[in-house]
Parts: sequence; structure tokens; C-alpha cells
Amino acid sequence: MSFASPSSSASSHSLALYGWDEDWAAEFAVYADQGLVPGRVVRVDRGQCDVVTPDGAVRADTEFVVPRDPMKVVCTGDWVAVDAAGGDPRYVRTLLPRRTAFVRSTSSKRSEGQILAANVDHAIVAVSLAVELDLGRVERFLALAWESGAQPVVVLTKADLVPDPVHLSYLVQDVEATAPGVPVLTVSALHGDGLEVLTALVSDGTSVLLGQSGAGKSTLANALVGADVMDVRAARDIDGKGRHTTTTRNLLALPAGGVLIDTPGLRGVGLWDAESGVGQVFSEIEELAGRCRFQDCAHESEPGCAVLAAVDSGELPVRRLESYRKLIRENQRIVAKTDARLRSEIRREWKRRGAEGKAAMELKRGKWGWVVSDHP
Ligand code: GDP
Ligand code: ZN
Repeated sequence: MSFASPSSSASSHSLALYGWDEDWAAEFAVYADQGLVPGRVVRVDRGQCDVVTPDGAVRADTEFVVPRDPMKVVCTGDWVAVDAAGGDPRYVRTLLPRRTAFVRSTSSKRSEGQILAANVDHAIVAVSLAVELDLGRVERFLALAWESGAQPVVVLTKADLVPDPVHLSYLVQDVEATAPGVPVLTVSALHGDGLEVLTALVSDGTSVLLGQSGAGKSTLANALVGADVMDVRAARDIDGKGRHTTTTRNLLALPAGGVLIDTPGLRGVGLWDAESGVGQVFSEIEELAGRCRFQDCAHESEPGCAVLAAVDSGELPVRRLESYRKLIRENQRIVAKTDARLRSEIRREWKRRGAEGKAAMELKRGKWGWVVSDHP
């Protein structure tokens, strides 16, 4: 999905619609002194990007932003400093430090990461109630969401297909048990149920929609954005090439507040395959593990371990087993590290909001489910 750009002009005040706040202003101050202009990247392609600035939407070259470092490649959601009006072409001169980032990475640390979206506050994981819950898949998306630094939210979609409220509450409980610390909402785009809570949630900060194909992401995006998105999709499908036209963007200010990012890369399959990738690479070990006496065998010293037996018999090279263990551990370390980083980020954010005396949003468990409330 891509977003139509209804207007290419943006007043300086409208940058706030794209998430500009006092912290970004403080980060940017030194560049303002250099005569540069702030902006947020709404789309990237072939070394150039579309940036919303106080001068409106501008096209800018990114060649000055260290292209050799993959983590410095400009992506949708980035805040940047560009040349003032008059420069032709305009150049992105610097990238403001990211608060959060979705990085496509493999379990091998040698492989280079690829930034898919930056400065995302809410990672909304859409899970369809039309099919049987796959909790493992939910966990995988949640791992990806936590890893980015964004706060995950699970949205159970198509709730109209589960008319029995008792059954629905069991499904919600199952997901909640799988997702500690993650609000679980139910919505029906068909009936409009639950959309108010979701709208309120995304009205503060920047959100992305994650989830399997068919989970209802486009439908939710349409409900949040309005009818335009669907029109764009239809136009693009007729075109048949799956390409974006110059009137599309991957980041849009929502009518009720907040920003929605939807990039093709974020939707792409394989993004959350780091763990299953390990399993695929070492499929013979996974197969052997299925024959261990204990289901939770760690293949260290357990009796009846088929993996160790294969090493003893020479069928499995010990080097290969060690490599497998290393990759599994690496994955676990990444998750642990990002959890710690996330906690400190959340603390910092609360401190910031507290210091500003700004109302912060909080999700509370109300009598009728999750509600969004303001509190000082
Ligand atoms: P995406 O692939 O995640 O973007 O999923 P879509 O938004 O394209 O939705 C997949 C299918 O689910 C479509 O046929 C939608 O009409 C259907 N769908 C989406 N939301 C709802 C809902 O709230 N209720 C029902 N019954 N169907 C829905
Ligand atoms: Zn074993």
C-alpha cells in the first residue's frame, strides 16, 4: 500500500503533523544555525527521497549521508536536515539520530542490516480472528516489534467473525498470555467496533502495521486514513507493475492525528525469519533434535540426545553443532539487549513527558476492554 499525497504543500506548523516536537527541534538547532531546513522522509527510491519540510514536499538527493554505512542509509520516517530553498537539486545533509528503527537483519552478524522504517512509536501487529490463532507467529512479530524499540500492540482483527463474546475473551486471554506487557485490542473494520480505541492510540506518535498477508492491515489503514489508500492501490494494480507513482508516499499524517508508515519492505516476507532462518540453515540438526528423548533437549549432556549421538558417530560435524549453538545464542542476546534498551528508552520518554508536563497517553484495562486515557 502507498499513500496518496493530497497536497504537496506543508506550512512550517504542519511539520508537527508529521511528529515534529521539541526534542527534534533541539536536535536540529545546530543545523538551523547552518541555514538548513528540517524535514521528514516520506519515501525513498534510488538515492533520492521525498521529504516534507516547512517549504512543502521536496525531492532531495541523499549522496552526502555516508552511503557506505548501511545504518546511515536514509529511510522512511527519518528526520533529516536538507538544503534551504534555492539549492537545485537539494541534498540531505544529515540524519537526526533515530529514536527507533526497524532493521532487516539475518541471524548472521556479518550480514549487513537494512533499515526499513525509522522513528516508529507503535508497532501494531494485526492478527486475524478469521483463522486459527498461531501464537508462535504472534511471538515472532512481537519479537520484531520489540527489537525495533517501538511499543508493540496486538490488534485482533475481524472480531465480527467471532460473535460469541465468551469465545472472543478466551482468544484475547490466549494472546495476552503470549504477550506480556503488550495491549491486546479487538477490532472489526466491518462493524467499526474497537476502531475508536485504535484511532486514539495511533493519534500520538508514529505507527506501523505488521502482520501476515490477509490479516486486515490494508483495511485497518483505510479505516485510519480514509478512502484514498484503497484508490491508490487499485490504480497501482491496474498499472500491473507494482511500482509507485510520484504521487505516493509511505508515510502519512492521519486525519485524527498521528502518523502511519507503510513501506513495501516492512510488509515483505522474510523480515521476521531470523530465527526460522537458523532452523533452515541447520535443518539436519533440527531433524535430529526431533528424535531426542526430551522435547526440550539442549543437546549439551542429556541422555538419549540424538544430536550428540550423531556427533559421536561422526554423522554430524561438531563444528556445525557449535555454529548452530552460536547463532541461537546470538539471537537471544540481540533480544535481551534490545529489551534493556527499550526499557531505558521508555524511562527516558516518560521523564521527558513528565518534565514537559505534557499529557501522556496510557492504555488502561477498562470494564469493556482497553481504553486510552490521558494522564499527566
Ligand atoms: P492485508 O493483507 O493484511 O492488508 O489484509 P486486507 O486488509 O487486505 O484484508 C484481508 C481480507 O480480510 C479482505 O477480504 C478484507 O475484506 C477482510 N477483512 C478485513 N477486515 C475485516 C473485518 O473487520 N471483518 C471481516 N469479516 N473481514 C475483514
Ligand atoms: Zn538433544
